[in-house]
Amino acid sequence: MRGNVNLYDLDLSELETLVTSWDQPRYRAAQIWTWLYRRLATDIEQMTSLPKALRELLAEKTVLHVPRVLARQESLDGETRKDLLEMADGEQVEVVLMRYIDRRSACLSTQVGCAMGCAFCATGQMGFIRNLTSGEICAQALHLERELRNQGQHLNNIVLMGMGEPLLNYEHTLAAIQRLNHPEGFQMGQRRITVSTVGIAPGIRRLAEEGLQVNLAVSLHAATDALRSELMPVNRKYPLDSLFSAIRAYLTATNRRVTFEWVLIEGVNDTETQAHALAARLEGLLAHVNFIPLNPTEGFTGRPSSAERIQAFTAILERRHIAHTVRLRRGLDIGAGCGQLRRRAAA
Ligand code: SAH
Ligand code: SF4
Repeated sequence: MRGNVNLYDLDLSELETLVTSWDQPRYRAAQIWTWLYRRLATDIEQMTSLPKALRELLAEKTVLHVPRVLARQESLDGETRKDLLEMADGEQVEVVLMRYIDRRSACLSTQVGCAMGCAFCATGQMGFIRNLTSGEICAQALHLERELRNQGQHLNNIVLMGMGEPLLNYEHTLAAIQRLNHPEGFQMGQRRITVSTVGIAPGIRRLAEEGLQVNLAVSLHAATDALRSELMPVNRKYPLDSLFSAIRAYLTATNRRVTFEWVLIEGVNDTETQAHALAARLEGLLAHVNFIPLNPTEGFTGRPSSAERIQAFTAILERRHIAHTVRLRRGLDIGAGCGQLRRRAAA
């Protein structure tokens, strides 16, 4: 089977090309598409509306890589669950399901590991292994949807905020978004999909031109170049001026509000200086900041900011009219910060 095309890696048009190359009618592709993205089949054998001969051809020439669950952790409150999934080549990525009162959100990985080396991030601490294919990204959402369906529920949101940097795996990430959004397939609305980036300026400019309605989140974490470069080496390549010029281009092209992520680290980026620098950067921008207390990781000595410091920090933003929310880091007890389950399983 190794080397055969993974059905999840194909767009509907590519699936049509494949089945017609076997002298099968084009509509068979749409049927397969339905089995994959609406009926959530896990095996070609389940596609009983296809003639047996076609199922045999599919089984011979293609493969359906449904990731295997290697480990699972559930938070004590039962609201956050994290699965370690095994890809066909044995590589492992994490997918997180977050349950809220009225919706369920999936946090998908886009790479195995990450080359960006952010100091506080468990995935960054492990380094880059490889890109995920578009099919491997989609399969994570299908995995969660399948389980939710058994409970009469479904996914309402998708965030590309798991392991890896989506804009450094641009083609596969974009293809996965388009496939998950497909009107005859998974039908996840673009406005319910969020791409989170460490701040790859050219990737942001490129995304701006795609004509998509997806949400953009930028992991900022520091508002001076000196501190940001210390925490996030990518800032040396795309310093704040170049990052914000890309963000302004994105806002002009899309007119969609940009979210900024800011992980609060006690005594590091929760200072008055940083609060004012952040406010200065965001004044006049269509933006919203999410503050998240740091999730401690083994490779980083920083600690999450105390409630008092968060209060003092956000009071400055309040005074300067910068829209923001302080989020509870979910799943703290299961190390739901990205990369942490894989590290533990590997230990
Ligand atoms: N590479 C992308 C998306 C994956 S990381 C990015 O950096 O945006 C998803 C989010 O988790 C980012 O905002 C990242 O800064 C944050 N994060 C990483 N390590 C964390 C930790 N230890 N505690 C809290 N948030 C963390
Ligand atoms: Fe990579 Fe994002 Fe982690 Fe930075 S925070 S190392 S970009 S996954």
